[in-house]
Amino acid sequence: MSKNLAILTYGCQMNKYDSERIVGILKGLDFQLTDDLRSADMIMLNTCSIREKAEQKVFSQLGRLKRLKEDNPDLIIGVGGCIAQIKGDKIFQRAPQVDLIFGTLNIDHLSSMVREVEKKRGRVIGIAKDFDPDIQPPLTFRESQVSAWVNIIQGCDNYCTYCVVPYTRGRERSRSSSIILDEIRGLADQGYKEVTLLGQNVNSYGKDKSDGIDFPQLLYMIEEIDGIKRIRFVTSHPKDISERLMYAMRDMNKVCEHLHLPLQSGSNRILNKMGRGYTSEEYLSKIDRLKSFIPEIVISTDIIVGFPGETDDDFNKTEEILKEVEYDTIFLFKYSPRPETLAGSLSNHVPPNIKEERFNNLLMIQKEISLKKNKALEGTSDEVLVEGHSKKDPGKLTSRTRSNKIVNFYSNRDMKGEIIEVKIIRGGLYSLDGEIIERGC
Ligand code: SF4
Repeated sequence: MSKNLAILTYGCQMNKYDSERIVGILKGLDFQLTDDLRSADMIMLNTCSIREKAEQKVFSQLGRLKRLKEDNPDLIIGVGGCIAQIKGDKIFQRAPQVDLIFGTLNIDHLSSMVREVEKKRGRVIGIAKDFDPDIQPPLTFRESQVSAWVNIIQGCDNYCTYCVVPYTRGRERSRSSSIILDEIRGLADQGYKEVTLLGQNVNSYGKDKSDGIDFPQLLYMIEEIDGIKRIRFVTSHPKDISERLMYAMRDMNKVCEHLHLPLQSGSNRILNKMGRGYTSEEYLSKIDRLKSFIPEIVISTDIIVGFPGETDDDFNKTEEILKEVEYDTIFLFKYSPRPETLAGSLSNHVPPNIKEERFNNLLMIQKEISLKKNKALEGTSDEVLVEGHSKKDPGKLTSRTRSNKIVNFYSNRDMKGEIIEVKIIRGGLYSLDGEIIERGC
């Protein structure tokens, strides 16, 4: 008899990708997905520890799940992901209702771990320190049937002073190009139209391999795969983005005109303290170069406000770059100390009210820029890939431009997976409304 599985995913795309892997493995053990926690036989939390708040959220959720476990002692609660990797068995001490803890590198052993929990009705933990991404079995479950994530590199060697990723996901390990290409060919055979190549720093791809295939070359190889119409990638590190990559982006038809390039701060003093390895001038010159190669490029970024010691002057420099670059989207964060990191021991913290003020200030500026840019698209037409029905309004279809803008439109036909032309009729803050352009014969 099949059992119900609920999975709660926190954090970045890498975690969402890992959750697809987790669901696929557990479906192999006869679990069926449910959104209803009350009817679940197993609840998995795939966690994120990038900020303190993300950790607090997980432990509050575990507090709520404790009551469900009291009502149903057979319920299995698992905690995976970055918090599990860092905290290990301390989670059992803080949340005794948890049955299973598995690290970011143990997902492929989940079947045997779950069986062990079911058999002995006791606690099981697995936290590996290393693994070979080339021996990972293929994903057997994906949420989308149109666009697929494909991991190309795991871990990060950069050790930015505020970031836990090198501690939660380990050192950089690239997957072999032949395995990546086989996976993408398989996705094309299944009808996928778009792939997003995933890695903490995709530009580092291949540095740990001896076959000489680097990231731009990998893109050229993926470009050749029939059936795949669009190629995206996240995340690029500004210090590593090369002219070769810019040429590749310009010259390849399938690589979309969107780049996520995290700035983090506009102040060289803060960038240095963050260990980012570039100055704001170098960052801006790469953006200029990129725009000269691909004038229509859409750029998004990540910014952290309130890094320890950030002065008004440092903050103003970030604000200036925000206004100068005019990003289409930003992901804005208030600095949150992580004890495992180098910056975690810094003392000159920015008071919470100042962080809040700086956060709101940038958010307000960015909202104006995003809205202005989206309004400017009204009346234009663009090519979109239809992803499916809109979650907010199931009467509408949701789609994405090559530049990564979401366009919602009405249709009485299910056009999932089709690439069509739409006219933009309204530009909103986070998405666009469009209408299908009917082609006469
Ligand atoms: S590049 Fe820096 S911020 Fe990005 S994952 Fe690596 S250490 Fe973290």
